[in-house]
Amino acid sequence: MIHRLSLFPLIAFATSHALAATLPPPEYQKLVHDIYKQLIEINTSFTTGATTPAAQAIADRLRAEGFPASDIQVLGAAPHKMNVVVRYHGTGARKPLLLLAHLDVVEAKPSDWSLDPFRLTEKDGYFYGRGTIDDKAQAAIWIANLIRYKREGWKPDRDLIVALTADEEGGGPFNGVDWLLKNRRSLIDAEYCLNEGGWGDMVNGKHIANNLQVSEKYVANYRLEVKNKGGHSSLPVSDNAIYRLADALVRLSKYKFPAKTNDVTQAYLEQMAKVSPAPISSQMKAAAQGSQDAVDQLAASSTSLNATLRTTCVATMLDGGHALNALPQTAGAFVNCRVLPDMKPAEVLATLTKVVADPQVSITAAREIVSGPPSPLRPDLMKAVARISDTMWPGVQTVPMMVMGATDGLYLRNAGIPTYGVQGIFIERDDFRAHGRDERLGINEFYEGAVFLYDLVKSLGRN
Ligand SMILES: [Zn+2]
Repeated sequence: MIHRLSLFPLIAFATSHALAATLPPPEYQKLVHDIYKQLIEINTSFTTGATTPAAQAIADRLRAEGFPASDIQVLGAAPHKMNVVVRYHGTGARKPLLLLAHLDVVEAKPSDWSLDPFRLTEKDGYFYGRGTIDDKAQAAIWIANLIRYKREGWKPDRDLIVALTADEEGGGPFNGVDWLLKNRRSLIDAEYCLNEGGWGDMVNGKHIANNLQVSEKYVANYRLEVKNKGGHSSLPVSDNAIYRLADALVRLSKYKFPAKTNDVTQAYLEQMAKVSPAPISSQMKAAAQGSQDAVDQLAASSTSLNATLRTTCVATMLDGGHALNALPQTAGAFVNCRVLPDMKPAEVLATLTKVVADPQVSITAAREIVSGPPSPLRPDLMKAVARISDTMWPGVQTVPMMVMGATDGLYLRNAGIPTYGVQGIFIERDDFRAHGRDERLGINEFYEGAVFLYDLVKSLGRN
């Protein structure tokens, strides 16, 4: 308790810009902090934890605030993998807005951390704990803001639905969004959705760009395999499964999918050109205007731009042979592809087949491939994000993004609910600890995110 009270003066001194506009009123700082702490301190990791206690805690809190029990649902694919969905009624003039965050977190071994991952610790201007970034900040903020709207008596022109879900990180059989869409779509059906995946970019504490994530690459895993009749290793023959596979992998390693832009990456490059140093800035500008040379130069200049501008396929696992003294009968490898959203899985497979160029190397999808369309660039959302960003952090650009990772937005996009990653939570570009050791989020940046999302949803539900 004492550490929380000490927080407010710390914030007041730590913040030099527009204090009133970037922090919630003290009552709501306390509320969002308390929800955040409660969520962090419930272990919701895939194997050692469960999301149900967290979903229940949120449902209890909402009921205590006077949300009707009929508007709060705790439900899901398994008893320990529950989601919580709450609806805040608007006038119904427009279709609902879905506000999504996931309750589950990546595993955290206490022995790997320098502090307890399942305790919210405030230290040196940061909140530490598993899920502080991914994704319990946004989960706490959605709930605290919903309570604030209710206490303030705001009636939006559309229903607001908050869904806090299970098993986003596992991507497995209990996935909350996928389950809700298949079983109770009406509960979360919306015109569009705001989600994680688009945070703000900060360099040495300076806010640079606020990202709006519009699309994602999708994942496709393939198994490359060579079968051979084998034999005794004292009598080698020229046809060897391991060599055949190795040759195929070497050909793959030398291949690059074509580098190209799409609507989203063009808009991204145009905005990033404004805040990047020369000569990258002029290459970005030229690439945004369609110069293939500039696109190729950019892709060659950095690993992350390379991943932004082309589909990539890389070998990640290898196996083969069965004895030291036998010719291999099987050699296999897994290849992990991250595919641009406008490329079909069939095109990826056709390209791999051509590059491998050996009919004895079989190529099959190793897991089910779920591809997804990008969300359309919504001018109303872009404008609202840009206006609020510029008010809170003058000079900060709003940058539409395609990300290399994948979120549950994929399921929603495939179900016809466009999904946008937007958080207004700024993170140091070179100190991103989601999924890692000593995950942390700036205290100031957490509260700023609460204000940003409060204003954004108000603006999108303006009555
Ligand atoms: Zn996440």
